[in-house]
Amino acid sequence: MSAPLLAIDAPSLLYRAFFALPDSIKGADGKPVNALLGATNLILQEVTAREPRAVVLCLGPDAADYRVELYGGYHAERPEVPADLAPQFAAAPKFFDGFGWTVLNHDSLEADDLLGSLARLEMDAGGRALLLTGDRDMFQCASEAVTVLYLSTGVKGAQEVDPAEVERHYGVAPELVPDFIALRGDPSDGLPGAKGVGEKTAADLLRKHGSLEGVLDAAIAETRPKLRVALLDSREELLAFKHIATLQDAGIKRPPDRATDRAGGAAAARKQGMNALAKRLEAAED
Ligand code: MN
Ligand code: MN
Repeated sequence: MSAPLLAIDAPSLLYRAFFALPDSIKGADGKPVNALLGATNLILQEVTAREPRAVVLCLGPDAADYRVELYGGYHAERPEVPADLAPQFAAAPKFFDGFGWTVLNHDSLEADDLLGSLARLEMDAGGRALLLTGDRDMFQCASEAVTVLYLSTGVKGAQEVDPAEVERHYGVAPELVPDFIALRGDPSDGLPGAKGVGEKTAADLLRKHGSLEGVLDAAIAETRPKLRVALLDSREELLAFKHIATLQDAGIKRPPDRATDRAGGAAAARKQGMNALAKRLEAAED
């Protein structure tokens, strides 16, 4: 089987590593490098295990403009990037490029959309993609050709999420994850969902009617009065939530093969004052 593309949700990994590892891990300038170190370790673990044809890190704004325009509450409660994390975000593109990893940045869409676009490109080309992330939004990408490597904690390895696992977890197939999010809501993204609708009801409705549009079209015949009102009253809002939760085409090209460069990574690590990491990479070289 052909080697997979390994696509990384860089903001997700940097955040997770930042909160999982102590800020006493400092670099050359005396500032914390815990997020860079933790993210690198997570990526290297997957590179070693899966031998990808290329590694692509995705970056982008926290909230795409179109999503905020559709719903003002989207990501509205997200705190600022912590002061000790911001410089690590800034250093990330150059640092990871040293490892032979390609860094993609989108100026208006989110890292999520880049990951989704990479998955689609890989699938269309007959390849395979692995998406390393701590964000369940990416479950919508799972398919025969695309596996989500889901990080439920900051430091442990990833869990493989395939379409069957998405179905076990949410009760719906990956294609219906945006519909599911729209109905159930997603507090971490500031999306309230339909009033009174939890996971079970959302999945039941979608299994019965096939899509959010199907659920809304059938709402007039819903026998539970509160549910009927909730669906009928917030039709437009729920459709907007689905559009928000649906990954958008980032208009990118399929990345070429590119090998991980452990010597280059060691040099990048030394430059950041991450000497233990540099030594480990140099030892793995020979
Ligand atoms: Mn989300
Ligand atoms: Mn997301």
